[in-house]
Parts: sequence; structure tokens; C-alpha cells
Amino acid sequence: MTTTATTETPNYDGAFDAIVVGAGLAGSAAALTMAREGLDVIMLERGPAPGTKNVFGGVLYTPTVRALTEFDSAPLERFVAGKRFSVLSDEGDETAISMRPDAWREDPHNDSFTVLRGDFDKWFADQAVSAGATLITETTVTGLVRDGGRIVGVETDRPDGTLRAPVVVLAEGANSLVTEGASLKPRPEREDVAVSAKEVRKFDTSVIEDRFRLADDAGAAYTYFGDGAVPGAVGGGFIYTNKRTVSIGVVYRIADVAAGITPEQALNRFKSHPAVAPLVRGGTLVEYSAHAIPEGGADAMPDLVHDGAVVIGDAAGLVLNSGVHLEGTNMAVESGHLAGLAIARAADDHRSDREALARYPEWLEESFVVENLRRYGWFQDAVAADRDFLFGDLPTALAGAEAEFFRVDRGSKQAHTAAARRQLLDAAGGWMGAAKRAWRFRRMLS
Ligand SMILES: Cc1cc2nc3c(=O)[nH]c(=O)nc-3n(C[C@H](O)[C@H](O)[C@H](O)COP(=O)(O)OP(=O)(O)OC[C@H]3O[C@@H](n4cnc5c(N)ncnc54)[C@H](O)[C@@H]3O)c2cc1C
Repeated sequence: MTTTATTETPNYDGAFDAIVVGAGLAGSAAALTMAREGLDVIMLERGPAPGTKNVFGGVLYTPTVRALTEFDSAPLERFVAGKRFSVLSDEGDETAISMRPDAWREDPHNDSFTVLRGDFDKWFADQAVSAGATLITETTVTGLVRDGGRIVGVETDRPDGTLRAPVVVLAEGANSLVTEGASLKPRPEREDVAVSAKEVRKFDTSVIEDRFRLADDAGAAYTYFGDGAVPGAVGGGFIYTNKRTVSIGVVYRIADVAAGITPEQALNRFKSHPAVAPLVRGGTLVEYSAHAIPEGGADAMPDLVHDGAVVIGDAAGLVLNSGVHLEGTNMAVESGHLAGLAIARAADDHRSDREALARYPEWLEESFVVENLRRYGWFQDAVAADRDFLFGDLPTALAGAEAEFFRVDRGSKQAHTAAARRQLLDAAGGWMGAAKRAWRFRRMLS
């Protein structure tokens, strides 16, 4: 068995304890864990190298990666030293909350780092290879092999590309064609999927540090909501700083594409908002991508274990998007790790049936992954139900209230304050409307 990355295809049929489909974050975490537990593991990745096909914002959340690896050697861009959340109106207003807690400057930097997936995923997959896993790139899994009802291997696009093993780990990400094709999960509802467009622009480091008020390895994560960010949709925009590049993107529900705007048009519109344009103008475009994000939460999770297979990461819908939190990387790694451990424990008993693999969903249920997905399960629907107010009326009303409250003229502060309050209450539907909304969203703070 080889322990180095290779694109050759010796006959591996039946030579491994587990096949991992996809060398993304979830797949590499599973392979690394299983290899450490003494299993023979093969990872199949369709890209020429791990990370080349992967799209993300992105801030990588690293508690589990740190626990599993020699983290000091990880290829990180910047730690997130500051966050800013803005609402943008269609008319060009911005209202923002900005934070730079001193604690984030200290190691471990709140375990939040910008990374380039082309670098990071390759490094993470190498950790699995160093632990004994085999990585085959440029190999697309095209389907599953069954024996009766049981999954016993995969078909690939290689000549003689059938591989059999006791367990298949489905870690193919949000666009999970193999998992869906084998009827292991239904096609997601349109309401449960977001679409994103992102570009990466290269700037001089000094330009990035000046525009975002950064020094050394510190970075910034800016998130934007409102019709000024993405019109007529539940979604928003983001800007993340890397060392020499800036990632700029929009994310919104596929169901809202009917708002009549393509992801590319939405991105261009976001970049031209007066609050955004000065931060992103100039530079050189080095990457453009579009991708899906599962957002159905815990209720949309498919069955995670089958006879001979487990589903992990985005393929299992494990992404938290609560507006202020967009976390999928930590959930992908944690799910891969827990699945890897569960497969190893089942292998101790020479088993890989659904019942023997059930420790994986049990452990996931007890982990931060499902707990956090459940905590915000109500959120997407509540936001969608109040979209016109939250994304349309509120950003405009906030800007109007600010203008009134801080108005400088020969009038009284009392009159200015009353005018500001009126702006907000009119938008919210009076005191009753404001109270109903406060009640609806109280769980954000509970
Ligand atoms: C625009 C955008 C912004 C995001 N921002 C953030 C963020 O800031 N922070 C955060 O935590 N999360 C973010 N996410 C979510 C995060 O990217 C995902 O949750 C995470 O990448 C999931 O990891 P994964 O390993 O499950 O899937 P992926 O990272 O998608 O990896 C899947 C792998 O499988 C391979 N593959 C797929 N099909 C096959 C096949 N048939 N055969 C062989 N190989 C295959 C792919 O090439 C890929 O390498 C963002 C997502 C998007 C789209």
C-alpha cells in the first residue's frame, strides 16, 4: 500500500477498510482519524489536488483541526481580529456594528482564520496521508456499488475503476450527486439551499492593511445584510481579508433567485454599494466561483448511516447560517472525525452495518454540531417570513433615525429624538409591531 499522494491506479479493489469520497475538510478529517486508528483508508478526490475545486468565504474555524494536527504548520492567511456587521439600504445607507475584542488578538485567536482552500485542503489531506491514508486525485466517484441492499464500494471514472471496501464515507460536499444518486438523501428543497458567488482580488498588502485597519497577521471579516447587499432575497454579502487577497461574495437562497438577478449580477451590485465600493475597488481578479450551501439545518439532515456507508460534512447538510454565524468548516471536520472514530469502533467488531455505525449519529447529536443547528433551526423561517421588513424597511428606517437623532440645526434634541423614534416605529408597525418582532427574535439572545 502506498502512503503518498498519487494519481496512479494500481488495483486497490478490496485492499482497504474504508473509501472516502472527496478530500475536502470532512473527508480528510475522517481519513486522518481512521488512519490514526489503524485502518487502511483510501481518499478519492475529483480535483487535481485537494482544495482546487473548493469554494468558500472564508473563515476556517479550527478547534477540531487544532486538536487533530500539528497545527503550527497549517497554511493560514490571517487571524480574524475584527468583525463588522452592516445593514445596507437600497438608497446607499449603511448602519454598522464593529468589534475588535483584545482577546481575539491573543493565541488561539478565537480559532478563526482566513485560509485559501487550495493551500489549506492540500495541507490537511497531507496530514491524513502522513498518518497512513492513500490519496488518489483526478478521480471522480460516479456511483455506489451494492450487494443486495448493502453498499460495498464505489464506481469511479477510471478504467477498471470499481473499488470495494467495507465502508464508504460520503464527503462530497453540498453538491452531493453520488449520495443523492444512490437515494441516500432526497434532493434538498429550494428553501434549504443558498447560492453564492465569490471573487478573490489581489491587492498590495499595504492597501489591504490600510483599507481594513490591519497590521501584521490580523484580518477582518465584514458581513452585510439588507436590500443594498442583495436585493429582494434572504441573504447578504461578505468581505474577508487574506494576506495579499480579499474575498468578496454574496450568499442568498436559491428560492429567491426568482427576484430576477443572477449571482454574478448580485455580486457586481454588492460591490458597487457606496459602503462597499471603496473597500474593494481596484486590484486584480484572481478567482471567480459560484457554489451552493445547504441551509436546511437539523431538520433537513438526511439519514447519516446506512449499511456500509456514512454521510458527513456538507453532504449531510451540516452548515449553520444564522446571519451572524456562517459555520460549516468546523462542522465538516467534527463530523468527519466522529464518523472516523465510529467506523474504527465498528471495525473492532468486524462490522460495518448501519447498527454498528450508529455511534456516529449518536456522538454527532451530543456534539456542538447538532446542538448549534437545532438552536437556530427556527431562524431561517422567521427571517424569511419577515424579509421585507428586515432587509428592506429596517435598513432605510435605521439610516433615517440616525439622521434625525444626530441632526444639527436650530431645533431641540427632544424633537430630533422624537423624529428618530417615529421613523423606527413607523417601519416596525408601531409599538405593537416592534414588540411582536422583539418577541419573535428573543431566542437570539436566550
Ligand atoms: C461562498 C461560501 C462561503 C462560505 N463561507 C464559510 C465561512 O466563512 N466559514 C465556514 O465555516 N464555512 C463557510 N462555508 C461553508 C464551508 O465551505 C463548507 O461547510 C465546508 O467546505 C464543507 O466541507 P466538506 O468537506 O463537507 O465539503 P467540500 O469542502 O465541498 O469538499 C468536498 C470535496 O469532495 C470532492 N468531490 C465532490 N464530489 C466528488 C466525487 N464524485 N468524487 C470525488 N471527489 C468529489 C470535491 O472536489 C471536494 O474536494 C462557505 C461556503 C460557501 C459556498
